[in-house]
Amino acid sequence: MINTSKKLPTGSVIGIIGGGQLGRMLSQSAKILGYKTVILDPVPLCPAGQVSDHQIVGNYNSLSAANSLSNMCDVVTYEFENVDLNCLLKISENIDVFPSPEILKISSNRILEKEKLRKIGAPTVEFFPINSIDDFNQAQKIIGFPMIIKTASSGYDGKGQKLLKSEHDIDDYLINSIKIKKAFIAEDFLDFNCEISVICARNIEGEIITFFPSENIHENHILDISIVPPRVSKKIISSARNLAKNIAESLDLVGLLAVEMFLTKNNELLINELAPRPHNSGHYTMNGCETSQFTQLIKILTKQPLGNSNLSCASVMINLLGDLWINNSSKPNLEKLNKSKNIFVHLYGKDEPRIGRKMGHINITSNNISDAYIKAMEIKSKLSN
Ligand code: AMP
Repeated sequence: MINTSKKLPTGSVIGIIGGGQLGRMLSQSAKILGYKTVILDPVPLCPAGQVSDHQIVGNYNSLSAANSLSNMCDVVTYEFENVDLNCLLKISENIDVFPSPEILKISSNRILEKEKLRKIGAPTVEFFPINSIDDFNQAQKIIGFPMIIKTASSGYDGKGQKLLKSEHDIDDYLINSIKIKKAFIAEDFLDFNCEISVICARNIEGEIITFFPSENIHENHILDISIVPPRVSKKIISSARNLAKNIAESLDLVGLLAVEMFLTKNNELLINELAPRPHNSGHYTMNGCETSQFTQLIKILTKQPLGNSNLSCASVMINLLGDLWINNSSKPNLEKLNKSKNIFVHLYGKDEPRIGRKMGHINITSNNISDAYIKAMEIKSKLSN
């Protein structure tokens, strides 16, 4: 079905399932390259809908919405993992879906994901799938405490997970959830050195690149800042890139794959999770690389050679959460910041700030990472006052 030599002509239509900020920035990149976009999202005028040619207002699990999307588009992608697999499979009967529904199936379920990683020889934190109370008892023997327990599917930004420091933290809610057959995964709770991620881009002809890894610092389980280059050795950087590349190739990826990893106290890299889509930790690429993660994905979807994604400068990305709007007496003064050299404010068109809601981000670039980091810390402290 796929003709590898055929670049989709400009004016072709790219369908994006999910209308959040990732879909928005993807759509903006598509427009720069001359393509049209259609968004499927239940909320009218969602962030991506605002900057697209058309929005289908429909539920992600609606087969009729999926049908409309495949009729209107030449290729379809998605911007989050909890996409309805049946709808995606239905769409893929008519047009190309990248990354493949099979990759979505694996990455949207932590058990399938970790088992796949184990099968291809990629190192992960110790884990144990839980489908019954017997499994949970077994997990406590094998993993021990502290352990982190996560829902097998539908969790993101730390949602659906709980740290169990000892058996006293096991509550009725968890036990009842296991009894009603909700699937979980138990993981060894790591005391890691830092978290890094690598985004891999691979096109239909097998051309593959990895973006420079990013060091990620979270607050309340939500990404707070990304630091690029990460403050780790060259050897770790190169191992992280190789790991991501091997995983992408083993999955026969066509698209983007973000690979989140922990760097342990013993300088070992362990994979935490995979996301087959643009990733928050890759937002630095919009100002730190010639070809951003979004442009790279549009090139892949339209069957073009990949762009140059070498790092052009050191970058720090700060996430702007709704907390900034809610907790401060006045709105953050972003207009002034945007006029400064090497500071780039990106807003997502969300009217209503909420605690933990991603409203935008700021990229700060420099010739060296310490300058970018100092500047970023200054901006962060000014914004929260
Ligand atoms: P996740 O939803 O799996 O990406 O987890 C969100 C965050 O929780 C990660 O970025 C880590 O900071 C933390 N976390 C997740 N799994 C573990 C683990 N096994 N050990 C320690 N921290 C973890």
